[in-house]
Amino acid sequence: MIAGPLGLVALIAAAIAAGGGDDGSPLRHLYLLPALWAALARGVHGGALVGLLAGFLQAPLIFPLIERAGLSRPVVDGLVSLTIPLAMGLTVGRLVDQSRGRGVQLRALLEIQRSLAGETAFGARLAQVAALTRRALGVDRVGLLLDAGDGAPLTESAPCAPEPSDSPPSGSATPCRRLVLPLDAGQGPVGTLTIERNGDLGAATRSAAQALALHVALAVENARLTERQRRFAQELEDKVARATQRLREIDRAKSEFLSVVSHELRTPLTALQGFSELLLARDVPPDRARRYLHHVQTESQRLGRIVADLLDLSRIESGRGLSLRREPFDLRELVECNVEVFACQHALHRFDLSVAASLPPLCADRDAVDRMLKNLLSNAVKYSPRGGRVLVQARPAAERPGLVELAVEDDGVGIPAEALPRIFEPYVRIAHPETATAPGLGLGLNLVRALAHAHGGLVEVESLPGKGSRFRVLLPA
Ligand code: ADP
Repeated sequence: MIAGPLGLVALIAAAIAAGGGDDGSPLRHLYLLPALWAALARGVHGGALVGLLAGFLQAPLIFPLIERAGLSRPVVDGLVSLTIPLAMGLTVGRLVDQSRGRGVQLRALLEIQRSLAGETAFGARLAQVAALTRRALGVDRVGLLLDAGDGAPLTESAPCAPEPSDSPPSGSATPCRRLVLPLDAGQGPVGTLTIERNGDLGAATRSAAQALALHVALAVENARLTERQRRFAQELEDKVARATQRLREIDRAKSEFLSVVSHELRTPLTALQGFSELLLARDVPPDRARRYLHHVQTESQRLGRIVADLLDLSRIESGRGLSLRREPFDLRELVECNVEVFACQHALHRFDLSVAASLPPLCADRDAVDRMLKNLLSNAVKYSPRGGRVLVQARPAAERPGLVELAVEDDGVGIPAEALPRIFEPYVRIAHPETATAPGLGLGLNLVRALAHAHGGLVEVESLPGKGSRFRVLLPA
């Protein structure tokens, strides 16, 4: 690149020599051109070299003139044209070097911003930024210490050059200069930038380092913002996806629930319609009419239970809670009455009753206790489809003073241990081949538990698959 300007110098020198080597040749002004060319192409070094050469070539013409004529006008003129190429080469060369340095820094800054906003691990990005900074500033070592934000520990860039202590510059006794700058874009420091050079850190390098530190700090803050935004967007997306999924589940559960409820309501309704039509339309003998009326009564009771359960459920779900009307009543009488009704309706089962003589009068909502007992009894029957014994016990809870225990035990299909914790949840039904067709909404036990809790009591269950189950309601006396 410097060959062009040098060739032009030679050409001008040759032209001046051909013109008689006159010290006042106007061609000497042409020396400015190669000096300018070299300065533009190679910066201060090229400009100085060519300017110096142009000066040297003119010296043999000027210096004899000084000896001959002293400081005359042509001599001053000659001296000016001797020094101007050098002065211009130096000045323009320095300006070119400066603007090139700025260009390099600007490109480095863009790259730094790009690598900080990248997707790779933060440590890797820092190492890249350190390498770019080192190249842009032309120093030997660069270290970056950054706070990635959001409570993450400080991250240090991997050293992008060997530490001076590890490998001292061989043979040279050049002192090492180090400059540590805070990275602060106005929102408080986010880390430090350390640069080191074996030798002097010039004023230009220092101010360039300062500008770079500011830009790195800005880029870090931008990267943090971007990161936060990205995380926020991701979280939002996840939340929306989860909510959509939940809505779909709720929608499915609602449709399922509606179809089960309609089915549950239709069964007793069909029976009620059928028997009442029979009674109205035909002359039915009294004993058969009694049987039909008995069916009508059972089915309307079942209908009543379903509606009461649904009402309770809607109260629980709307957060209104269950309102109780507590009054002292005789639990023995309630239990006996229920067992009698169930025994009447389920000939396949044998009902045993055991009420302790020491049973204290219970102060509770009679209707609620009645519904709990009916739910447990109907489950005991439903989930022992081959029949069997159903034992109902009412007594003071042995190990818990102050509580009354109401237990219903069956020897039906039982419940697997892993399903036990779930059976009190609403809509949960445990599949079993023998009870697949048993009617139910999966709400009974949920209501039993809610009613027991409303009384300040609790429900417990023990069960063995194939052996049977025992449910215990414990209520404060
Ligand atoms: P439902 O009887 O309407 O299905 P429940 O809430 O009363 O609803 O019962 C929930 C589930 O718990 C039942 O589907 C059944 O699988 C199981 N379960 C309840 N009681 C018994 C029992 N006595 N024996 C065996 N399994 C039972």
